[in-house]
Amino acid sequence: MSVSQLARSIKASPTLRLNETAAKLREKGEPVIHLGGGEPKSKAPLDAVLNCGAQLNTGEVRYAPADGLPALKKAILRYTEENYGRMLAPQNVIASSGAKQSIMTVLYAILEPKDEVVYPAPYWVSYPEMVKLAGGVPVAVTPEDGSFVPTVPDIADKVGSYTKVIVLNSPNNPSGIMYPAEFIAEMVEFCEKKNLWLVMDDLYNRLVFDGKKAPNPYDYAKQDITQSKLVVVQGVSKMYAMTGFRIGWALGNRELVEAMTNIQSHQTSGPVTVSQWAAIGALSGVQSGIESLRLTLENQRNVMVERLAAIAGVHVTKPNGTFYCFPDMSAYMKDSQKLAELLLERVRVVTVPGKEFGMDGHLRLSYCGTIKEIMDGLERIKWALDPQAPNELILGERKLVRDWA
Ligand code: PLP
Repeated sequence: MSVSQLARSIKASPTLRLNETAAKLREKGEPVIHLGGGEPKSKAPLDAVLNCGAQLNTGEVRYAPADGLPALKKAILRYTEENYGRMLAPQNVIASSGAKQSIMTVLYAILEPKDEVVYPAPYWVSYPEMVKLAGGVPVAVTPEDGSFVPTVPDIADKVGSYTKVIVLNSPNNPSGIMYPAEFIAEMVEFCEKKNLWLVMDDLYNRLVFDGKKAPNPYDYAKQDITQSKLVVVQGVSKMYAMTGFRIGWALGNRELVEAMTNIQSHQTSGPVTVSQWAAIGALSGVQSGIESLRLTLENQRNVMVERLAAIAGVHVTKPNGTFYCFPDMSAYMKDSQKLAELLLERVRVVTVPGKEFGMDGHLRLSYCGTIKEIMDGLERIKWALDPQAPNELILGERKLVRDWA
């Protein structure tokens, strides 16, 4: 049996693969610390659970419309008005099985074969694979100055006659960096002028630190929603800690939303009805959970940055959002895949190689676990890498002796 050429060109999601590896090691009783995860540890909001539970108790769980239940779309519209200051119509919203499906469906709806999709590096691991799945060509832009913040000329340089879409994710997975408002403003203007689609992957825009607020792309849009090619993608996964519910959405012009709805209707039908009830509960209920998650993450970010900075040779750019940090570890090893393997093998710490995000020499570390996990994980990393660290480390019931540095 041979699978298609397209299937062969698609890599497994490295983060999901790492979760499996960590789970298997844990099952064997290994003292694994998972700094590779991409989900907050807090519980889903009570309103989500209650709304979902109440509806579930009726025992009537039916198909939902392909673009989502009207009540969910209404809740999303209210959320959009409150948080983006935009009053949109139900025809401008489509709910999907996670933001992942929203992005995938946007690409299916707008790409012609060989159209190019441009996005800055470091980038979320799924963008290149999604673009390939939709028949397009992924084009990553690495900021000239070696930072995590692209400039408009960096991007413009990669935009050509085949470019159809620009995707921006800010605050960014994996760097945790929020792009400045001026950059977002210029990109909105640039895309309007060049007639390009601009997909704003805003999944982390409520998880921002140091008193900052994520720029609102609609503030800079001159075109109204009927002609606009601006698409905003959001979801409940990160801000409400509801990753397992799989609900995300996209906001865009009617023609796009209609095309996406047609695609979704043949692909998955509407998102899982039970999950939509939960999302309605989360969006309509008490919102304080977002702020308490944000505060917890800010504190955890501080601990992680402080500990990383204490490892000689590690260069860390302080994240101002998300729950990721993307330190430059190239002083120890340029090949991030090998470094991640070494850390897992020797000290049982799961990290994600920067290579997967288009920037080798870095590791993505998550601070969405507990403070203890962060501190212990970084102590182990320091021990594994830093020749100045003591020669022995107690790991579970084992005493490790460093014999490789
Ligand atoms: N976009 C980014 C930048 C992400 O990091 C993720 C999840 O990790 C997603 C989209 C997908 O989120 P969802 O769980 O809603 O599918």
